[in-house]
Amino acid sequence: MKTAIYPGTFDPITYGHLDIITRASRLFSKIIITVALNPSKTPLFNAEERIKLIEESITDLQHEATLKVATFDGLIVKFAKKNNASAIIRGLRAISDFEYELQMALMNRRLQQDIATVFLMPHENYTYLNSSIVKEVASLGGDISNFVPTVVEASLKAKFSKK
Ligand code: ADP
Repeated sequence: MKTAIYPGTFDPITYGHLDIITRASRLFSKIIITVALNPSKTPLFNAEERIKLIEESITDLQHEATLKVATFDGLIVKFAKKNNASAIIRGLRAISDFEYELQMALMNRRLQQDIATVFLMPHENYTYLNSSIVKEVASLGGDISNFVPTVVEASLKAKFSKK
């Protein structure tokens, strides 16, 4: 029984994140999708909204592991250790992700030797996708149905129609 955590901002969850969760579920028996509270970032969706969107998005997902959703604030390796996780999952899309991710992975290994960072590559269709670009397209009234589940699309529309 191997547990992994998949930390991120998930503001909001996209098909790119869901692709990584599906792939990770073939390698681990339990995945804790961990929403970072990130006081330094100003998310569009608050933590409660992000969690709800994740929970609604994973109900229809083809996956082979037990999926849990949690929040965390502080050192991710401490959270991983507390939850008996042996790995931290991260998605790697392009070279542009690499430098930051390498730095984080090496620092986390320094802090906690026995927790590995596992990088997974998404389907080519999602390599250019991130939450920020989806929010930008949604704010301009573009079609985002190929990038996010229907619940997320509806929530983004609702957010931007209020603005
Ligand atoms: P963070 O602020 O931690 O980068 P994100 O929600 O943006 O939070 O991303 C969480 C993780 O999911 C990161 O490892 C990121 O590389 C990965 N990720 C985000 N979008 C995609 C995507 N389209 N394909 C693959 N991985 C992705």
